[in-house]
Amino acid sequence: MTDGTTQADLPGAAGRRGPSADPAPVRPSHGVLRPLGLAQVRIDGGFWGARQQVNAVATLAHCESWMERVGWLSNFDRVTDGTTGPDRPGWPFSDSEVYKLLEALCWETARSASPAAEAAIGRLTARIARAQDPDGYLNTCYGHGDQPPRYSDLEGGHELYNTGHLLQAATARLRTRGADELVEIGRRAAEHVCRTFGAHGRAAICGHPEIELGLVEFGRALGEDRYVDQARLFLDRRGHGTLRDIPLGRGYFQDDVPIRQAEVWRGHAVRALYLSAAAVDVAVDRGDDGLLAAVRRQWRRTVARRTFITGGMGSRHQDEGFGDDWELPPDRAYCETCAGVASIMVSWRLFLATGDTRHTDLIERTLYNVVATSPSGDGTAFFYANPLHQRLPGPPADGTQVSPRAEAGTRAAWFDVSCCPTNLARTLASLAGYVATSDDDGLQIHQYLPGTVRVTLPGDQRVAVRVVTDYPADGTVEVHVTATPERPWTLSLRVPAWAGGAWLVVDGQVRPAEPGQVGVRRRWRTGDVVRLALPVGPRLTWPDPRIDAVRGCVAVERGPEVLCVESRDLAAPQLLSTMEVDPAVLPVQAGDAVHVRARFAPVPSGDDWPYTSAAGEPADRGDWADVPLRPYHSWARRGPSGMRIWLPAVRRG
Ligand SMILES: [Zn+2]
Repeated sequence: MTDGTTQADLPGAAGRRGPSADPAPVRPSHGVLRPLGLAQVRIDGGFWGARQQVNAVATLAHCESWMERVGWLSNFDRVTDGTTGPDRPGWPFSDSEVYKLLEALCWETARSASPAAEAAIGRLTARIARAQDPDGYLNTCYGHGDQPPRYSDLEGGHELYNTGHLLQAATARLRTRGADELVEIGRRAAEHVCRTFGAHGRAAICGHPEIELGLVEFGRALGEDRYVDQARLFLDRRGHGTLRDIPLGRGYFQDDVPIRQAEVWRGHAVRALYLSAAAVDVAVDRGDDGLLAAVRRQWRRTVARRTFITGGMGSRHQDEGFGDDWELPPDRAYCETCAGVASIMVSWRLFLATGDTRHTDLIERTLYNVVATSPSGDGTAFFYANPLHQRLPGPPADGTQVSPRAEAGTRAAWFDVSCCPTNLARTLASLAGYVATSDDDGLQIHQYLPGTVRVTLPGDQRVAVRVVTDYPADGTVEVHVTATPERPWTLSLRVPAWAGGAWLVVDGQVRPAEPGQVGVRRRWRTGDVVRLALPVGPRLTWPDPRIDAVRGCVAVERGPEVLCVESRDLAAPQLLSTMEVDPAVLPVQAGDAVHVRARFAPVPSGDDWPYTSAAGEPADRGDWADVPLRPYHSWARRGPSGMRIWLPAVRRG
């Protein structure tokens, strides 16, 4: 509605809707491939199943208890009882953490039918519901008591950002459980946004993109086209200097150049990525090929020039933002966990639209090296920034205190700005929604984890497979056909770009599997097995010479995992800075580590001027030794440690 009518008491579309047969975070109306959701993909243990379980039993409750402790939950109660004011605890965006937790809990109920998650949804929804104003506005930082008026600081206030996360939570609830109070809260909020900022309303945007994502997906879930139209309005208004200028410049919130004209992602990384994910959504739902082409162009250039080997994005701490092309310093890498999550969101949408496996390759890289890196083993501490080089061990973790710093070298229980833990939680809970797709001809598997995939092809033709694998520890992936129709269909498997020399075995026949997507079309029988062998042995990886911060260095990767050396595996922490490896000796797996041949330059004594005009190298470069490397995602799990991914390589000749 754009005529000002209050919708709060009218029966809405939500009231008629039950849960989705196959709940998934993203359901585009068009695309090359259809995503399979949490009902059709089941993850059963393995690398990711273990992390999902930790998320379910520890992280979700951890997030709720911290938000209670720091007052972000009682902010809603303070609005309800009229006692809130400008001094309420938390940043203006703290409401969004409650909504992201709610979203995670909704996906968890679909994943595991968890009674604890269902109870938490009820608790949180009741408190939020009472704080919603009669016209649908819902925010604990503005518009109540002596607080600043609604929408009086669109650059920094995050009101629409918060609402976007509310709508994503409502979407998850609608798809996993059906219409209920949380869905109604979302519908009232979405109507309020459309009335206030619609074509006849205020021509404004939010400093932090996110409302666009929430509106499109909620609109899809409800069959409510006006919400998608509203998202498109927000996208089209951006890039024209709609927001006030700020010291960091309008590029910080992507209001410097219209998204259709931009060549590369810039500014605050999470903002740029959320905006682009929403742009893909709008493009595919509206058949806007120009907009889709613009985001694809930006993805390609950013991945080619502004992305770390981990898949991490964001080089600058001052604005949590992208740097210039090739500005990828390992020790100053920011790589916010949320930017990793957001990168996956963009890549998944682009993949569904195009079928281009470069997107699913980047998703895998980012999952194993950003998403898996952030949480501690017990799921109660998190990295916010994910640098590629930590010079000295961080301070010992203190699980009782809020960390004021995003970059500390140790995982923290909670942060002053605590966007990353809840973003991780919702991603892990909904991970099954990023694993496989279908089209009219068959089934495609993109991420390898033990579990089952079921899909119904056109004509009620049921297909089911069981995936057996210990990936990434082992490169063998077996797909067992457990149900198949009579007619032929195609099973497709992704072969990562790094997996040159992979092969596939079908019916005892071995065939090479080139990087990209390998498909087998045939009349299947129950009990058929396809075996994909991916070469996950350690390999050396060299950087483009234009990434000057790491020129002359080499990294070691193993399958999808980037490896690192930790100072706790060296005789002394400072040896991290003088280590050099011999790339002529290939790394070898030994036990749970990969060993490289390395030596350590002698450290000069004293504190003299560290530069010299004397040419040449010291004669004594130390003795060669085997040094263990371990997956970057596990660094500092054994306690504070220095760490580096890029290792100076010995020059020859
Ligand atoms: Zn974050």
